[in-house]
Amino acid sequence: MSSILLKQTTLNGAKADLLIEGNRIARIAPDLGERVGADREIDGRHYTVVPGFVNMHTHAAMTLTRGVRKDTTLQKWLDNIWQIEKNLDEEAVYWGSKLAILEMLKTGTTAFLDMYWFPKAVARAAEEMGIRGVITYVFLDNFDKNKAAAQRRECLEIFSASREWSDRVRFGVSIHADYTTSEETMAWAGKFAQENDLLLNLHLSETELETRKDVEKLGLTPTQHFDKFGLLGPRTVAAHCIWLNDEDIEILGSRHVNVAHNINSNLLLSSGYKFKFNELEDAGCNVCIGTDGAGSSDNLDIRESLKTVAMVQKAWRKEPKSLPFSTLMEASSLRGARALGFDAGRIEEGALADLLLVNTHCEAFTPNYDFTSNFILSANSSCIDTVIVDGRILMEKRKVAGEDEILDRADALAWKIMRR
Ligand SMILES: [Zn+2]
Repeated sequence: MSSILLKQTTLNGAKADLLIEGNRIARIAPDLGERVGADREIDGRHYTVVPGFVNMHTHAAMTLTRGVRKDTTLQKWLDNIWQIEKNLDEEAVYWGSKLAILEMLKTGTTAFLDMYWFPKAVARAAEEMGIRGVITYVFLDNFDKNKAAAQRRECLEIFSASREWSDRVRFGVSIHADYTTSEETMAWAGKFAQENDLLLNLHLSETELETRKDVEKLGLTPTQHFDKFGLLGPRTVAAHCIWLNDEDIEILGSRHVNVAHNINSNLLLSSGYKFKFNELEDAGCNVCIGTDGAGSSDNLDIRESLKTVAMVQKAWRKEPKSLPFSTLMEASSLRGARALGFDAGRIEEGALADLLLVNTHCEAFTPNYDFTSNFILSANSSCIDTVIVDGRILMEKRKVAGEDEILDRADALAWKIMRR
């Protein structure tokens, strides 16, 4: 079993030695002395150790469509994106996902929940690069019976193939949204996820328009619509949830749904910003943080998202104490890990070793009266020096193995799919 000793790093404001054995945190003590004999020792004097971020909503390979948004709303943006996505193949998604994972590691994300096409290519990229993740098969049938049948077959085939994946990379199911997916498919996907104890991921009430259309057409809000099919529960992750009424919040809370807040995407697509963080939490939801795909967000930087969330919540509520930084840190790590079913997101003995070494020997942390405040508000992600996932160092001194090749291959494929 390999081991790493972090000597005299800062943990919760105090100096500590931290020993990683295999893929878990084995020991934490003020001073473990010289007798530990780890394979690798890291001088932690300039570092503060924090749990890695968990990105609870993304479409990883949309890194290939970064910057094509052209200042438009979700619906017009999607129409454009779906045309481009017709040109995708396994290879493009594989390299686009590797680019996303590179970006996530550089910005401190150690686990992610993905909703995208060619999930086997996404899983292969995650396996090779060492990040943790739940990779989902996406149902989006556009109310076409033949497409629905083909998607069910493909989902079963990939689910079966996923038995070969490591314990670090798991399979899940996505329903894109209730405005793109037939009720038959929604019901089938929900039952399939439940029977196989798989995570169910969906977009929910992202825009006012989609929410209003549901009410006009069905007499139900999107929340009520999903609830009608029993699709809301503690194994469900609902992304966005911007346009909810009080009854929706009560339903989501009573079902203990995990809600992924994606502030930068919501702001950029003009979808809305009055996310009911506290109300959802009080109702019983597990509120987490995501970025959405780089096509709409336009990066995968959770730390940057935390800053936006903190400022927007203060602004629209006109309440400076609305959301403590400690809640934001937990929402972006421990809560996400719990939702995905990974024993990570905490720096404690026995937990999976998914952690970041933040370099505080720089301007943003001088003076360092309040680490969390500096980390969220003052720094940028260049302060994240080292990233460890599953007990393996995936980034050190900000270098990730193979990054030049990833940049070159992803760039070439992005231009290729745009030109096709
Ligand atoms: Zn999304």
